[in-house]
Amino acid sequence: MATAGKVIKCRAAVAWKPNAPLVIEEIEVGPPQEGEIRIKIVASSLCHTELFHLFEGKDNRGFPTILGHEGAGVVESVGPGVADFKTGDKVIPVSAAQCGECRFCKSPKTNLCERSWLNYHVDLMSYPTTRFTCRGQPILQFTGTGTFSEYIVIRQMYVVKIADDAPLDRVCLLGCGVSTGYGAAVNTAGVTPGSVCAVFGLGAVGLGAVMGCKNAGASRIFAVDINEKKFEKAKVFGATDVLNPKAYDKPISEVLAELTNGGVDFSLECVGNTEVSRAALESCVKGWGVSVLVGYTDADFSAKPIQLISGKTWKGTLLGGFKLKDSLPKLVNDYMTGKIMLDEFITHKMDLEQINDAIHLMKTGQCIRCILTISK
Ligand code: NAD
Ligand code: ZN
Ligand code: ZN
Repeated sequence: MATAGKVIKCRAAVAWKPNAPLVIEEIEVGPPQEGEIRIKIVASSLCHTELFHLFEGKDNRGFPTILGHEGAGVVESVGPGVADFKTGDKVIPVSAAQCGECRFCKSPKTNLCERSWLNYHVDLMSYPTTRFTCRGQPILQFTGTGTFSEYIVIRQMYVVKIADDAPLDRVCLLGCGVSTGYGAAVNTAGVTPGSVCAVFGLGAVGLGAVMGCKNAGASRIFAVDINEKKFEKAKVFGATDVLNPKAYDKPISEVLAELTNGGVDFSLECVGNTEVSRAALESCVKGWGVSVLVGYTDADFSAKPIQLISGKTWKGTLLGGFKLKDSLPKLVNDYMTGKIMLDEFITHKMDLEQINDAIHLMKTGQCIRCILTISK
């Protein structure tokens, strides 16, 4: 590679400040250092967590940054000490590390690797040091990735090698939202055959959860959203019933209790709204109901203790509980062999230059996932 060891100048969408459009800029991407990999990003989608950082978060730290954490690409070059990757490998860079050595990586119970950026630089959303600069200043890498750039540098413990024949403009979806929702159902909730489930919020995360409930053998899946345009897709992924909480003059938990003889076995909150989290918990059946919190917000939430005293379990999940280095190659294979859907999540395709249109579509509930072509 002619570029190996050199600074690369390329295009990226920079978020200079919150609540403002992203700006397409020429940036510099430094060469990979010890244990790092430089990746040419081919495609990336947009997850609601980007919208949260840009518009909804309470604090304005973490700017200027390059957003994007559902990307896929090809290794351009590797730094010293990288033995498992080589130029040309197809990869998915992810926002959760799997170092393989820490207490958490060694436990089968969790994917919360101690060396993830979450534990260190959550304020700045970059780990350990950004290799991006633009107009003479460092630019952060959102969630340690920053896939709205033609090139990124990231530590090898955050990079997953995938099959050579995997279509990058589709498997990029597995980098966050779809895997999160799917794993929330099959791993965190542990949905069982014949069970009754309710999924709140029908973006890619919620639809991934619906798909997980279906694949785990749920007999009835209620898909809940205030945007009825999402209902048709929910049925494609396996929803048997669709509900709009706004169409009832009583709480949705009561509606579900009436329809299910006392509540659902599993509920999954895929919105990022504390009122919905509470409703999802209250929708579970007493005795054994399990509610999983998937949506992200920085607001506090509350519930009546009786909800848990009566035998329900309230859990949360990061990235669906998947240890990503182990699991993403399998999920890619599941897609290639037809066990899971990915194409059906894609409602739009655009170029990086149209990033602000893609953000607008998600903000206004008009898309599930928009795939951006990052490098041509
Ligand atoms: P999205 O914006 O595409 O979908 C959210 C859906 O929720 C929309 O269909 C919207 O209409 C619906 N909704 C909004 N208010 C509602 C309400 N009151 N009741 C029912 N439905 C409502 O978002 P997404 O990309 O699917 O992400 C969903 C959430 O998951 C976000 O909070 C995101 O930050 C979070 N997330 C968490 C993880 C994790 O690891 N836990 C990973 C990825 C995303
Ligand atoms: Zn670890
Ligand atoms: Zn995400």
